[in-house]
Amino acid sequence: MFPHRLAVILFVLLSLSGNAQRSITSQFQSSCVSPPPPPAFVAQDSGVAETGSRSVGYKIPFDTIRFNHVLGTQAFDVVVCFDGVINSSQIANADRYVDSLVKTLESIAQYNPRFKYFNVYRVAKISNEQGAAWGFAGDTNVDNRYGSRFNKYGLPRLILPEKYDTLFADIEQFVPQYDLALNLCYDKKYGGSGWNLYDGRKVASFTLDEQTGWHLGDEVACHEMQHIMPFAGHGFLGDEYEDTLACPIYDTIPISYLISPNFTGDTFLDRKWEHCMGLPGIGFYPNAGICPNHYRPADNCIMHQVFGFPAFCPVCRENSTAWLDSMINPVYNVSPLPLSFSGGYTFKVSVDTPFANTFLYQWLLDDTLVATSVDSLTLNFSQVSNSVNHTLKFVCTDVDGHIIDTTLRRPWITSWNLLTKDTAVGVSVISQSEIFSVTPNPAKTEVSIQSSSLIKSVTITDMLGRCVFRNDTVNNPLLRTDVSTLTKGVYIVTAVTKSGKGFTRKLVVSF
Ligand SMILES: [Zn+2]
Repeated sequence: MFPHRLAVILFVLLSLSGNAQRSITSQFQSSCVSPPPPPAFVAQDSGVAETGSRSVGYKIPFDTIRFNHVLGTQAFDVVVCFDGVINSSQIANADRYVDSLVKTLESIAQYNPRFKYFNVYRVAKISNEQGAAWGFAGDTNVDNRYGSRFNKYGLPRLILPEKYDTLFADIEQFVPQYDLALNLCYDKKYGGSGWNLYDGRKVASFTLDEQTGWHLGDEVACHEMQHIMPFAGHGFLGDEYEDTLACPIYDTIPISYLISPNFTGDTFLDRKWEHCMGLPGIGFYPNAGICPNHYRPADNCIMHQVFGFPAFCPVCRENSTAWLDSMINPVYNVSPLPLSFSGGYTFKVSVDTPFANTFLYQWLLDDTLVATSVDSLTLNFSQVSNSVNHTLKFVCTDVDGHIIDTTLRRPWITSWNLLTKDTAVGVSVISQSEIFSVTPNPAKTEVSIQSSSLIKSVTITDMLGRCVFRNDTVNNPLLRTDVSTLTKGVYIVTAVTKSGKGFTRKLVVSF
C-alpha cells in the first residue's frame, strides 16, 4: 500500500561514552576490515516465566500489553516486533524484555505523567533463523523475518531491518493506526538505529544486548525511538555525540533532513536552542556535536550517550513532550450538535488529563474567549444572533513548562458549527430524515463530519481511491479530523451511520 522506494533514509545511531564507547569501538574497528561471524548465541534464560511476569499469558503472534480504554486509538500506539526469534521460549524471553522496556519508558520524566497515553502492542512472528546477520551480502547471512543486519555501511553497531515491507505489513495487520514501530532483534550484540524512510515509514531497532555485559537494550530503545519523532516541521532529534565513523554517513543525508533541534552546524549567533539558554546545563558545546564543527545543547543527554541512562536534556525533553502531544488526542465524549438552535444547550467535553495536569481549557465563541478551566459550557441560543452562523471552539492546550517554545504546543481543538442562520428554515427536514454534512468545505485545517444519527465509520479516499483516513469506531454523530497534512485536492468522504445508511460527500482540501 505504500510506494515502494529504495531510497535511503535518515538514520541515526547511538553511542556509548567514556570507557564503554572506547571498548566497543576498539572491539569492532578491526572487524571493519574483516567482519567476524556473530558470536554464538548462549541462551541465558530458561524460558520459564518469572514470578509476576505475564509470560504465561502472552498471546502469539499478537498481544496487547497496555491499552488506554478511555481514549482507545486516540492514544499513542507503539508496536514492538520481534526479529530473529525461532521458538516460543525465545518469544517468552523477548516478552519479558518488552515488559522491562515498558517500565523504563514509564520512568522517563516527561513520559511518566503521560504514560496513560501509551498503548503498547507486541507482534511475535517466528523467523527461520535466529538473531541478526552481519554486514552486507557476502558476509554472514541470517534468514530472519525482517532482514535485521549489523555493520551496515561499515558501522558495526548500526543494525537495520532491510525487509521493511514485511515489518510494516506485520504491524498493519494488527495495528493499522500505529504511531511508532520498534524492532527488537533477538541478538545479544550491542546495536541500534532509528531509521526514517523517505516515504514516511520509520522504525527504531535495538537488541537484547547482553554480549557487552550491560543490559542496555532499554536505554538504546529510548534513545533510538527519539530519532523517529516526525515532529511537524521541527525535525528529528539527532545524536549529540562526535563519531568519526558515523560522520561520513551523516554527510550523505540530504541537508533538508538535518533539521534536528538538538544539533547544529550553525554559528554561535544562530543556535537553535537560544530559547533554552540559561536553563541548567544548557550551553553551546563546540566540537562535540554529531561530527566535528557541529554543536550540541547539553553536556549530557541520552541523545549523547546511553550508558548510565542520563535524562533528556531540556532541548530534547521539550521536543519529545511536544511530539507526544502531537500523537494523541486526549479529548473524548464530545457533545453532538444540538438538533435545533433554540433555548439553552450545554456543550460538554471529556478530557483524559495527565497525572500531573498541565492542560489549559479555553472556550471561544466566534474566536472570542468566553470561558476557561471548565469542561462544559451552556449557550442560550436566544442570546446568540441568528442573522449569522457561529463557531464554538473548545481548545485544550498542554502548557507543560518544559515546552519552552510555546509555538511547539499543539492544542487540541474541538469545534461546533452553529448554523443558526442556515437552519432558520428547514428545521422540520432535520428532524425527519438523517442529515449529513462535511464542513467547512473547502477545508484547510480541520473538518467536521456530522450526521443527525450516530456515525459508525468514516473513510476518506483520494481521487485514485487510496485511503488517506479511516475510523471504524466513531460512535458519535460528529467526527472532527485534521486534514492539514493532506495534499491539496479533492477527496471523497464516506460515512456509514448506525442504521447502516451510507453517505458520501466530496471534500476539497485547500491551502
Ligand atoms: Zn539532548
